[in-house]
Amino acid sequence: ADAVVSVRDLQVEFPTQIGVVRALNGVTFDVPRGRVLGIVGESGSGKSVTARAILRIIERPGRIVNGDILFRPGVERKGGGRATRRNRGRTGTGGPKEAAPEAGATEETGTGTVTKAPAENSRGVVDLTSLDPTGDRIRAIRGQEISMIFQEPMTSLNPVYTVGDQIAEAILLHQTPDRNEANKRAVEMLRRVGMPNPERIAKSYPHQLSGGMRQRAMIAMALSCTPTLLIADEPTTALDVTTEAQILELMRELQDEYGMSIMFITHSMGVVAQLCDEVVVMYLGRVVERAPVDDIFHDPKHPYTVSLLRSIPRIGVNRGTPLEVIKGSVPDPYSTVPGCPFHPRCPSAMKGLCDTVLPVEAPVEGKPDHNVRCHLYPGSTPAEAASASAAA
Ligand code: SF4
Ligand code: MG
Repeated sequence: ADAVVSVRDLQVEFPTQIGVVRALNGVTFDVPRGRVLGIVGESGSGKSVTARAILRIIERPGRIVNGDILFRPGVERKGGGRATRRNRGRTGTGGPKEAAPEAGATEETGTGTVTKAPAENSRGVVDLTSLDPTGDRIRAIRGQEISMIFQEPMTSLNPVYTVGDQIAEAILLHQTPDRNEANKRAVEMLRRVGMPNPERIAKSYPHQLSGGMRQRAMIAMALSCTPTLLIADEPTTALDVTTEAQILELMRELQDEYGMSIMFITHSMGVVAQLCDEVVVMYLGRVVERAPVDDIFHDPKHPYTVSLLRSIPRIGVNRGTPLEVIKGSVPDPYSTVPGCPFHPRCPSAMKGLCDTVLPVEAPVEGKPDHNVRCHLYPGSTPAEAASASAAA
């Protein structure tokens, strides 16, 4: 399958005064081109760090210590056959076993023989980990190819321009050279993100809007850039359910219209169900399961995924605290949990195995695009006994 971004064995550390926090511990997944990937997990699972690593905006002193982030710019036009929403979810997401040739590392090899790809090869693949995080190349990518929307809208809105001007500017840069047309489309975008009086909102400055309005303005602006990849980090969490549903629907529409790829970070399986084609489930800096959305909802494998699904809130009830039904809480990231990181909370944990041996990610039997990291499944136990399936 064609991936716009391939993350391979990504490790990110935050040195602190009381020790090193390994925020990402060998993360591997693909963002499929022209589709919506959901990254789901509790806070502290590494979702936001993953997004920030892709854009190379990890806060100091955090640093990428290993792995590749391969970015393939542009919208794929040649050859056809590209997955669309209408035949979504049926092609492979890639994985360690079918990694792109320029990805020298496979997950958890521990050999330290990572082969670095050249910064940009002949096919236009860029290893984002090899770029200077303050250099021109990554800045250009951030402005034009990968946009990010955050929970906090003031980080992307400019206080000295009206909301309409900012959106029109993005449209002029990315969609049309016609100023009148851009102004019209800006108002239309504001209407589509659910602004009650878009003509008036367009003439407002960010500080004149409420938090929810600013959030919608920022989403309108990010979508107007029609980037190759849009990364959204819980952008609708602060909004009411109706507005959230409206915005998710709009993102879906624009994704179809422009062939955009979206990586949507959320703690909500409800949001995943509404929006996503593929899903990556993260726990404590690792990917524990990844699969097409239908498999995640109808045939989940990892006990953590199962508990996330059980905790989907009913409409209007308990919104915002969906994860409390999972026994225990996320362990302190400073302490290293031996064995499976989920074992202290797992109802299926096996003594003598789960508390001592780290499971590896392996394809689910008969489903090459469904991967799980759990000793309940053959392939995930890296013991000599399981060598046949592990080496396959
Ligand atoms: Fe639970 Fe063991 Fe699977 Fe971890 S490896 S999720 S503890 S069954
Ligand atoms: Mg976060």
